[in-house]
Amino acid sequence: MNVIAEAVVDLAAIRGNTAALDAHVGAAGLMAVVKADGYGHGMIPAANAALAGGADWLGVVGVAEAVALRAAGITAPVLCLMDDPQAAHAEAIGRGVDLCVGSAGTLSRVTAAACAAGRPARVHLKADTGMSRGGATAADWPGLVDAALAAQAACYVDITGLWSHLACADMPGHPSIAAQLTAFGDAVELAEKAGVRPELRHLANTPATLTLPQTWLDLVRVGGGIYGLCTLPGGGPDWLRPAMTTRTRLVQVKRVPAGSGVSYGHRYTTKTQTTLGLVPVGYAEGVPRTAAGVAQVQTRGRRRTISGTVCMDQFVIDLGDEPAEAGDEVVLFGPGDAGEPTAQEWADALGTISYEIVTAFGCRWPKSYR
Ligand SMILES: *Cc1c(COP(=O)(O)O)cnc(C)c1O
Repeated sequence: MNVIAEAVVDLAAIRGNTAALDAHVGAAGLMAVVKADGYGHGMIPAANAALAGGADWLGVVGVAEAVALRAAGITAPVLCLMDDPQAAHAEAIGRGVDLCVGSAGTLSRVTAAACAAGRPARVHLKADTGMSRGGATAADWPGLVDAALAAQAACYVDITGLWSHLACADMPGHPSIAAQLTAFGDAVELAEKAGVRPELRHLANTPATLTLPQTWLDLVRVGGGIYGLCTLPGGGPDWLRPAMTTRTRLVQVKRVPAGSGVSYGHRYTTKTQTTLGLVPVGYAEGVPRTAAGVAQVQTRGRRRTISGTVCMDQFVIDLGDEPAEAGDEVVLFGPGDAGEPTAQEWADALGTISYEIVTAFGCRWPKSYR
C-alpha cells in the first residue's frame, strides 16, 4: 500500500477472548482457528496470543500454514482442517501436524506418506453430517472408518479425532442443528463400535461454542470468537472484545460549493457548501465498492458515511462545516470504545459477516501490534 494506513491488532484482546472462551467451555479443550492469516490479524502473533490465553490446539486450513506455525517455534498440537488429497502430507507428518481425512482417497495418500515419513499420521476422520461441504457422507462413513482402522492396525495412522462441522450454528433454533448433532452421534457410535478410540470428538465453531453446550464435546474450534467476533445475529456477547482497529489519515481537505458531484458517477452531490475529506484507501485495500453511502468511518470523534463511489485507492467523506485538516486520523472500524464503528457494523451495513470485513482489510493492510 502507498499510504499511511494500518490495522492495529490488540493481542491482549485475543489473549483475553481466548481465556474467557476457555473458561466458558469448562472441561472441553479449545482449538484457536488461525486460518486466513489469523482472520487477517496475523497468523503467528494471533496463534501465540491464543496459546497465551489457554488455547490447547491450533486449527489451520492447509499444510503450508501448519508448517509456518512450526517454523515459528510453535509446538502446540495443530490440525489442518481441509481434506486435500494433494497436500504435502509427508511434511505435515514429519512436523507432527494432525491431518483431516474425509475420504478413502485421502486416507490412502496419507497412509503412503506415513510409510515414507516412517511414522504414523495422526488423523481426524471427518463426517459430513449435513453441511455437504468436506467429509464423508453417511453412506461413505463406514467404509472410511474400516479403512482407517486397517491403516491403524498396520501402524500407518493414529485415529486421533472424529469430527464434523455445523452449517447453521449461527441460526438459533434451526432444525439442522439437532439433525446434525444426531447424525454426528450416530457417526461416533458407529466408529466406536467398530473399534475407534478417539482422543477427541469435536463439532462446535464460535456460535455453537457461545450458544450450544451440547456441541462442545471434547474440543471446541473457535475462530471468530478469539478475535472478538461472532456470526450470531447482532454479533457476539459483549465480553468478547474486537481485536482489530483499522485507521488511516485524511490526505486532503477542501471546501466545495453546493451542488458538487462527488466521485465516479456523481452518486453523491453536496447539498450545501461543505468540506470534503479524501480518505486514501479503496477497494484495492479491502473497502468494498458496496460500502458507498452505507458504511461509516470516524474522524475527530464524529461518524461520517462514505460519500459517493468507493474508488480503487480512495473515497470521500463529507465533513460539513466541522474543522478538519489533512493528516486527521480516520478510523474505519475498531472495538467501539470511542464511538467508532465496529467490524460488525460494517458487516451489517454491507449485508455480510464481520469475518469478511476483517479478512478483507487485515490480509492487505500493514499491521502493528499492541
Ligand atoms: C473456520 C472454521 C471454524 C471456525 O469457525 P468460527 O465461526 O470462526 O469459530 C471451525 N471449524 C471449521 C471446520 C472451520 O473451517
